[in-house]
Amino acid sequence: MVDINNTHKKCNICKKEYTTIHTEVKPGETICVCNTCLETAKNNFIFICISCGEVYLRPKKQMIERIADPETKKAYMLCEDMQLIQGIDMCLHCDPAGIVEHASNQKSAQC
Ligand SMILES: [Zn+2]
Ligand SMILES: [Zn+2]
Repeated sequence: MVDINNTHKKCNICKKEYTTIHTEVKPGETICVCNTCLETAKNNFIFICISCGEVYLRPKKQMIERIADPETKKAYMLCEDMQLIQGIDMCLHCDPAGIVEHASNQKSAQC
């Protein structure tokens, strides 16, 4: 597969600026991200929905404070200085019914 990277593509995060920077959000899924959004990623965790392209920002400090589990908290604190953009398979925006179903399945599973 030939990948030509010298073309300017629209940033998948802000959908405004054009960029040549690529980042892998999950194995096999690459998105384009501009410098402005990379700056944003220093202070925020960025999640992008692979299905519909919706972008979610979560302030790092606020999110880390809310994590109760010490191990998870440690893992996120290690990511605090990284410019992290994570891909998610679906979100509330593209599949609200699926999310609700998933949540109720989990509830009924714990007898
Ligand atoms: Zn951008
Ligand atoms: Zn979505």
